[in-house]
Amino acid sequence: MLTNAEIIAQEAQYTSGLYPKRPLAIVRGEGARLYDAEGRMYIDCVGGQGAANLGHCHPAIVAALREQAERLISCPEIFPNDVRAAYLSELAAALPFPARIFLCNSGTEAVEAALKFARLLTGRPGIIATMRGFHGRTMGALSATWESKYREPFLPLVPEFSHVPYGNLDALREAIGPQTAAVLIEPVQGEGGVRPAPPGYLAGVAEICAANGSLVLVDEVQTGFGRTGKLFAIEHDGIVPDILILAKSIAAGIPMGAVAIHERFGPLPPGSHGSTFGGNPLACAAARAALRVYREERIPEQAAVKGAWLMQALRELKLPTVREIRGLGLLVGLELKNRSQPAIAALIEHGVLALPAGPNVLRLLPPLVIQMEELEQVVRAIDAVLGA
Ligand code: PMP
Repeated sequence: MLTNAEIIAQEAQYTSGLYPKRPLAIVRGEGARLYDAEGRMYIDCVGGQGAANLGHCHPAIVAALREQAERLISCPEIFPNDVRAAYLSELAAALPFPARIFLCNSGTEAVEAALKFARLLTGRPGIIATMRGFHGRTMGALSATWESKYREPFLPLVPEFSHVPYGNLDALREAIGPQTAAVLIEPVQGEGGVRPAPPGYLAGVAEICAANGSLVLVDEVQTGFGRTGKLFAIEHDGIVPDILILAKSIAAGIPMGAVAIHERFGPLPPGSHGSTFGGNPLACAAARAALRVYREERIPEQAAVKGAWLMQALRELKLPTVREIRGLGLLVGLELKNRSQPAIAALIEHGVLALPAGPNVLRLLPPLVIQMEELEQVVRAIDAVLGA
């Protein structure tokens, strides 16, 4: 086995250079624990950037993948397939509204598809997204993403996209018009700093859209599959979107995205969109097993309890360097008085892996199966780093 330093050097030589890399090489995972090449253990609060809600190498997912890999891996959507058929019906039953489902391979792809479907279904071009929103980095999704450092090198982007302040219904009423196809929102802004929607905001957006003949597109790429304490974050408010966008933990770490389109629109025109890998049997097998685990292990309920405990424990530390602690379920952000990067680096030394969400927010996105004693370890590490 290579050392951390050898793996880091080998990867550095040929990798794209797009990612600022952490100074360790991960080679194994189990539950909420990750191990580097030299056997050092870390508590994982990166959680595959949201793709590892069920932790690493959950036995039910491993078994489903193994069984499916020995039977059939590739099967494009032109052929009906047993595992896809089963998954579509199971996901449809788990959704809080009746829907048809397009399967793809990532969050960005799902956003991209949803934007096209909104234009297709309304015959209008306009998309309104929100300030501090994040929806991905391909041209359509990037046009909906707000952060200028992601956008500016790639201008001009797709026309007819605009941004309104998140949480402000008056601004939306002002911006929406007869050319607005859709409004695209996250129930909690994740990358934009862990900002939950104010009470009533999502319902207000839905009402304004309905009155204007525009669609509500809810991006649950980061909030979906138990993260916020419900299987889907829209269940907190009971709002019904026209289109729901899913990815990350949908298949417990295997690449998959999904777009759920409200049943009232009926089937989409054949050939108007597509994907080679979308709905492949391997991803569907993982997603079926994942859906079973979310239900059987009461994963959303676990996230609600653990998230409330974590935020309370962090607040009790009364850390002088923390301006605000906010979140929903186990999507937790600490807004710091200074930059988050040095704290993230220091946490590695204390055996905890965490994420930024903007320049001064420290984001914790642990697997929802994290054990209480592991969470306690996270709180102790944060106390040591931010209390200093
Ligand atoms: N939407 C949201 C809300 C996200 O958080 C992300 C990823 N952070 C994306 C879309 C893009 O997903 P992916 O990286 O799978 O393309």
